Amino acid sequence: MPGRQLIVGKQIIDLGKRCSLWPDCACHENLVHWQQNLMDEEIVWSLEELRGIETLIFITLTCVAAYCPNKKIRLYAQCQLANRYWDRQRRGEELSEEEFRRRRGIQ
Ligand SMILES: [Zn+2]
Repeated sequence: MPGRQLIVGKQIIDLGKRCSLWPDCACHENLVHWQQNLMDEEIVWSLEELRGIETLIFITLTCVAAYCPNKKIRLYAQCQLANRYWDRQRRGEELSEEEFRRRRGIQ
């Protein structure tokens, strides 16, 4: 649903939570780097670290979704952002301690 993704993108722009350095930023590289790190189960992240990484991923996703000249990567970022998981970030809220503990439990 490209229409919905555009709306998502617009909401993010409205919130001003967006990288404005494209194409000079390293958002795509950051995205790949952090997603690989997050999937590495050997690393145990603290709440503060996870909060930072999550916000970083959100901002890089919005940047890539809006600007990436590679259509495939742009679509990937738009699909990721369409996930309700990011609603909390869109509201400007950080990962809560409760959610953090719940995630730890699952892992
Ligand atoms: Zn960027």
